Amino acid sequence: MNHYENKLLNNMPDSIFSVMSKLALKHDAVNLGQGFPDFDGPLWLMEEAFAAMKSGKNQYAPSPGILSLRRAVCDYHKKFYDLDWNPDDNVTITAGATEAIYSTIKAFVSPGDEVIMFEPFYDAHQLDTILCGGIPKYVTLSKPDFSFDFNELEALVSDKTKLLIINSPHNPTGKVYSLEELEFIAKLAIKHDFLVMSDEVYEFITFDDARHIPIATVPCMADRTITISSAGKTFSMTGWKIGFTIASKTLTESIRKIHQWTVFAVNTPAQHAVATAFGRLDDYLPDFQAMYLKKRDLINDLLIKTDFKPHKPAGSYFLMADIPANKYQDDMDCAMKLVENNKLAIIPPSVFYGKSEEGKTILRFCFAKNDETIKKGIENLMNLV
Ligand code: GLN
Repeated sequence: MNHYENKLLNNMPDSIFSVMSKLALKHDAVNLGQGFPDFDGPLWLMEEAFAAMKSGKNQYAPSPGILSLRRAVCDYHKKFYDLDWNPDDNVTITAGATEAIYSTIKAFVSPGDEVIMFEPFYDAHQLDTILCGGIPKYVTLSKPDFSFDFNELEALVSDKTKLLIINSPHNPTGKVYSLEELEFIAKLAIKHDFLVMSDEVYEFITFDDARHIPIATVPCMADRTITISSAGKTFSMTGWKIGFTIASKTLTESIRKIHQWTVFAVNTPAQHAVATAFGRLDDYLPDFQAMYLKKRDLINDLLIKTDFKPHKPAGSYFLMADIPANKYQDDMDCAMKLVENNKLAIIPPSVFYGKSEEGKTILRFCFAKNDETIKKGIENLMNLV
């Protein structure tokens, strides 16, 4: 190691999403791996962005984000969740949820602090914790329903616990946390005085009778929760990178310091377009939700006919399926063989576990894809060599 190297970067892997997307290109494989839609969001939204550009909204936005977008975020959190936030003190617009995650962790986690997260975790939750010198502690969401053991969670809490991270609806399992689970987490957070970062980017993608409950709505939690979401998933524009944090005034002040000295401000015309879009959720959501319900059922029904048994998700646009026993060494072996031999890229989820071996027995499929892509992908899977 050279003296100028940062040892926090030792053993830091490349993102599995980039790795698998690269392999998909190399092998000309159907990509049900990286989580992004292979279709565009609505044309009217693109037109809003172009209109903003044409009317001169092309210079730096204020560092916390344009007021109309911060207000639109507050308005929809009032309307859907009955939460009272104000644009001046509580909302910060970030470069996607990814920057929101980093700015939040950096703002509150100092070297040696412990951060509790549920595995399989979203990779950035773990790696940003490590980048900030924090120590991840894992609670396992176990098959078949991806529930967790309340005692296992409670036993992890220590006087070094600074932050607990949840992601609901959950990537990669499709779990939607129940009120009982959220209340238990809240009870611990209040008793032991730690913060909760709640990554809710799939908030509008829930199925059947599953209901997304922001943990900030649990009594006494609004002041100790940092809620993160983005426009990328809701409007199928992941490349626009418009996300946000919502938190109390004091917590927001800290997050804005990190945001100011890293990203400073986010793409101005896209902020204007997204401000309009959040104002149209009532009209927009019914078709959007019906589309994902159809896709969830399509991939689930197709997978049932294969040797890869699906765990039907309650939310998000991901689905976990069991790898047939004794056919492959583990998920990585299976993923490599599928992309090379079957021209199907999926995500091997063992990289999302820090403790349990369960990830080696499952694969993550993304169904934010055209129906034809989904059908072709599963057809490739069935032509097992
Ligand atoms: N959220 C996406 C996924 O889970 C990936 C985002 C990324 O590639 N950084 O696949």
